[in-house]
Parts: sequence; structure tokens; C-alpha cells
Amino acid sequence: MSQDYTSVEEMIQQDPVFGQVSFNNHEQIVFCNDKDTGLRAIIGIHNTVLGPALGGTRMWQYKNEWEALNDVLRLSRGMTYKSAITGLNLGGGKAVIIGDAKTQKTPELMRRFGEFVHSLSGKYITAEDVGMETEDMDTVREVTPYVTGISQDKGGAGNPSPITAYGVFMGMKAAAKYKYGSDILEDKTVYVQGIGNVGETLVEYLTQEGAKVVVSDINQGKLEEVRDKYGATIYGGTNLYAEKMDIYAPCALGATVNDDTVNLLNCDIVAGAANNQLADEQKHGKRLQERGILYAPDFLINAGGIINVYAELEGYDRTEIMRKTENIYTTTIEILNRAHETGVTTHQAALEIAQARIDARKQEQLA
Ligand code: NAD
Repeated sequence: MSQDYTSVEEMIQQDPVFGQVSFNNHEQIVFCNDKDTGLRAIIGIHNTVLGPALGGTRMWQYKNEWEALNDVLRLSRGMTYKSAITGLNLGGGKAVIIGDAKTQKTPELMRRFGEFVHSLSGKYITAEDVGMETEDMDTVREVTPYVTGISQDKGGAGNPSPITAYGVFMGMKAAAKYKYGSDILEDKTVYVQGIGNVGETLVEYLTQEGAKVVVSDINQGKLEEVRDKYGATIYGGTNLYAEKMDIYAPCALGATVNDDTVNLLNCDIVAGAANNQLADEQKHGKRLQERGILYAPDFLINAGGIINVYAELEGYDRTEIMRKTENIYTTTIEILNRAHETGVTTHQAALEIAQARIDARKQEQLA
């Protein structure tokens, strides 16, 4: 799960927390331990200038604590920029629980975790991430109001994944408009890597529009299901990255644009749902730009999920959720234009706009 932009050996050489490569002026890092339930968690609060730090809880069997810390630092920073670029009044935070979600997650552990979240008095608001289910958020809700992504029958906004897929589709269309002069994806060849909760709905949007969709996944049963349902083609080769395609949509794991793949990619556009698609934001973002491949920044186009949970806090309805998500199209066009005008990568352009919004709010607060 964590990104290998530094080795564990390198991490050990650095100061334990503030000296870590992923440390980015985080406001607060909370280590949570409970002997009785076996809970070991880290809550990372990156920035709360725009509002409370919202971000999901990930439960994962990290190889060691360094890896868990690295993950929470990196992910919480990502949330700051995702909310800022989307125009939400939220800061960035994330939590990781060290352990196997299949065998070590219990209601007692989740409640204890919820108590730690509660102790932060709303500075951090949690949600679902890898290894978590809606029912786990319902358990956390028993001990704290500072949780989103709870069941619809308990007042939650429900499954965010279809909304995320819609936002990715909007971002992809905007990238196509910029690259080809038209946002119609009919007859474009789109490779969707990972057809889980988000990927499958993306395939549905794409096939409805007449795109030629090729899917890959490690789950053979799912591949056959999606092929039969939407008429997608199952990828049968051994190196997807080298295949000729119009659009590559990473919807499984992060860091698939890396040293091994960045020079192989044979596409016009990279636009997908996965978080942290660029293994190294600077290096790989720059290389894509040099190769004429348009990258739709992940944290911008996959923000549908956070727009959905934000509705729980602000009380807006489904129509407003879809309107805000559709707006990802306009923001993507703005970012692509800005990157072109200023010569920076699209990722950098998105970061700069997000940072400018945070800086402006900070100035208002200081005034
Ligand atoms: P998911 O777990 O439902 O689906 C992931 C899919 O990828 C699974 O079908 C899995 O079998 C497949 N997969 C795993 N390894 C693979 C590999 N090496 N090659 C091909 N396929 C592989 O996850 P999801 O909720 O659909 O999220 C997909 C991505 O989008 C994740 O990176 C997630 O962090 C990101 N994301 C999701 C949301 C959301 O609302 N669910 C929001 C923002 C970002």
C-alpha cells in the first residue's frame, strides 16, 4: 500500500517523525495504542486552515511502523490538496490502523479507535478507506460524531464509489477536450486497470458513450462479469503499459507511473481513480509532460468520494453532490490551461492552485 519512494533502510536513517521524507509540515500526528483491543493506529493531521481535517481510515498489514507512518503522512497531505482544489472547506487528514482487516478488526477495536478520534474534538473527521466497511463507520459513530460515510439509514450519504467514478469520467472528458478538441470518447480506446467499486462504474460510463474499453484486474471472475455486462474486452497481454491506447485509466493501485513504466506508456492521456498515481510527483509528472502525455491530476479528478461525504457534514442533497462532481470537468480544464500557460506540469499546476486557496484563507485568518 505504501509507496516505495524511499526504502525502510533510508527511513530508519532519518529522524523518527519530523525528519521523514513524507513529513510536510503536518500539524499533528497522533499515535494511538490500546493493549486490550490490540489497536495500533496513527492519525495524521496535515492541515486545518480550510476546515477540519477529513480523510479515511486505512487498515493494512504494514511491514513495519515506518511504512505505516510514511503512508499516513503521505495520504493526509494528499487530502489537504484534494479538498482545497475541489473548493471544499476541509483540511487534510488520514488515519492508519496497523493490522489485518480480515482477522484483526473487531467492533471493540473500532470503538476504541473512535474514542481516539473523539479525543481530537472534531479536528479530525474520519471516513472509510481500504480495509474499512460502512458498518465499521457505523461502529465508530457509536462513540463519536466525528465520522462520515455511515449507512444511509443512519443519515449517511452512502457508497461514494459511483460518485468518484462520475468525477473521474468528467476529468477524463475534460482531458480529452483539451487534447483532442472534443470531449466525446466514442471510439477512443480506454484501458481501465482495476475494475473494483470505482473502475466498474467508470467502465459503465465509458461503454455507454461508445468508447472501446479494455479491462484488466487480478480478479478473473470480476473480469468476466464486467465483460459480459458491458461488452468490454479483457486484456490478454503481459505488459499493459506498452500497449497502444488513447487513454490509460489507473483504477487499482497507486504509483503505476514509475521508473519502469513512464517511458513505456503509449497513450495520449492518463486519467484514473487511483490515489498517488505518480510514484514521484516531480520526476514522473515532468517525464509525462516531456513525452506529450496529458496527465489529469489524480487528486483533482477522484474527488467525487470526498464531495459525497462532505454532503453529510453540510447537509446538501444528491443533486448538489452531482453538480459539484460535474464541476470537476471545469476545474480540470482550468488546471490544464494554467499548466500550459505557466509551463509547469499539470500536477504542479493543481498543487499551486490548491496551495493558493489555503494561503489566501490563512491570510484572512491572520488579518
Ligand atoms: P476496489 O478495491 O474496489 O477495487 C480495486 C480493484 O483493483 C479490485 O478489483 C482489485 O482486484 C484490482 N487490482 C488490485 N491489484 C491489481 C493489479 N495489480 N492489476 C489490476 N487490478 C488490480 O477499490 P476502489 O474503491 O474501486 O478504488 C480504486 C482506486 O481508487 C484505489 O486506488 C482508491 O484508493 C482510489 N479511490 C477510490 C475512491 C472511492 O470512492 N472508492 C475515491 C478516491 C480514490
